[in-house]
Amino acid sequence: KSRNPHEYEFHQAVEEIFDSLIPVFSKKPHYMKHGILERLVEPERMITFRVPWTDDKGNVQVNRGFRVQYNSAIGPYKGGIRFHPTVNASIIKFLGFEQILKNSLTGQPIGGGKGGADFDPKHKSDGEIMRFTQSFMTELCKYIGPDIDVPAGDIGVGAREIGYMFGQYKRIRGAYEAGVLTGKGIGYGGSLARTEATGYGTIYFVEEMLKDKGLSFKGSTVIVSGSGNVSIYAMEKAIQLGAKVVACSDSNGYIFDENGICLETVKQLKEVEEKRIAEYINIHPYAQYVEGCEGIWSIPCDIALPCATQNELNECAATILVANGVKAIGEGANMPSTLAAIDIFLKNNILFAPAKAANAGGVSVSSLEMAQNSARLSWPFEKVDKKLQVIMKNIYKNSVKAAEEYGYPGNLVLGANIAGFIRVADAMIVQGIV
Ligand code: NDP
Repeated sequence: KSRNPHEYEFHQAVEEIFDSLIPVFSKKPHYMKHGILERLVEPERMITFRVPWTDDKGNVQVNRGFRVQYNSAIGPYKGGIRFHPTVNASIIKFLGFEQILKNSLTGQPIGGGKGGADFDPKHKSDGEIMRFTQSFMTELCKYIGPDIDVPAGDIGVGAREIGYMFGQYKRIRGAYEAGVLTGKGIGYGGSLARTEATGYGTIYFVEEMLKDKGLSFKGSTVIVSGSGNVSIYAMEKAIQLGAKVVACSDSNGYIFDENGICLETVKQLKEVEEKRIAEYINIHPYAQYVEGCEGIWSIPCDIALPCATQNELNECAATILVANGVKAIGEGANMPSTLAAIDIFLKNNILFAPAKAANAGGVSVSSLEMAQNSARLSWPFEKVDKKLQVIMKNIYKNSVKAAEEYGYPGNLVLGANIAGFIRVADAMIVQGIV
């Protein structure tokens, strides 16, 4: 902590992972040698840069850009770019650190990285977004490439921003390197099912977890926080599997629709019109809108899916969910539950699908996008979706197996961390002290 003062989110992520590796060190002490933990926690490279751009009024604005190239033991750095005013070194490092083990769990050849800027895309014109994004890529392009580091989207970075970044990269490099970014549009090297992948993947993972206990999404009541990319496609797949999704949110408040949320309306509001979730009740007046996003966790449900942002589900929310009879939690967002909240779920035997495993579907399909780009092929939706299902089932199976092998059956937090760690640690050991 003294080496990285004030990086609270980063400390939280490291604490969760290192605590869960204790059983590995007792059983296989050689993982404590080779400086594995010391090297794992220190990024191979952390790049911070100025992003100057001009707003529509002609004023010069300056933001701060980041890229952490965390660990390349098993493949090129891979991880999203986040544009949000809260972005700082701590957020980027916690996300990059988690990404190492998440990418390892997918079984794909991808290392860990993450990036972003403290830029707020809300209420910006298309021209401002383009100018900012081009300036961001003008610096970032010096450090990335299809075999070096392959960024993708995250909060505030969707198909439009990836398109602008790709255009600027191509213009500067003078080469069409399709594999430099993932999450691209379908017309220029993107993969079908990438948009759906994180949300669908979370549901595939949770469905496996439920199945083991004789449960399923069919007939269950579900709440999903957020109404962005991950939330929308988690809702879509949960509904397809027979669940009733009764609530979702944005950072201002949540909607509750006891008849089941109309996903078409949410998609229209969020993906097409870029409006607030509060507008839902103008179209469905029998639904309720409540100011403040935290209240969503007080709605009784069988399955809760935090899909918005880090630390959105705290101890108090966890206590209420448990008291209301929740059976399972599936983390679609990165680190959405605080350590205290996770503790409450585990102590009360609530099925808990940790982010690192449950939301790995997005990066998995990104890796499949890289494979398609290398082969200059474009696979049909069904083929990518099938591969995604296989990957999510394997992540579940491997996490369960690791949890059992190291003496904590059913604890997927430990299982996912351990299974992800071992693959990276083995690669680091054979590659020497680098
Ligand atoms: P988006 O920007 O598409 O959506 C984020 C959503 O969360 C928005 O609806 C936003 O509302 C809402 N939100 C933000 N803060 C809160 C809050 N405190 N309470 C309730 N809602 C809130 O991002 P994504 O869907 O892409 O990402 C969501 C999470 O999933 C992040 O943690 C991300 O790192 C993670 N993730 C995403 C992947 C992907 O493929 N997209 C892959 C793996 C993980 P508002 O509009 O008001 O800000």
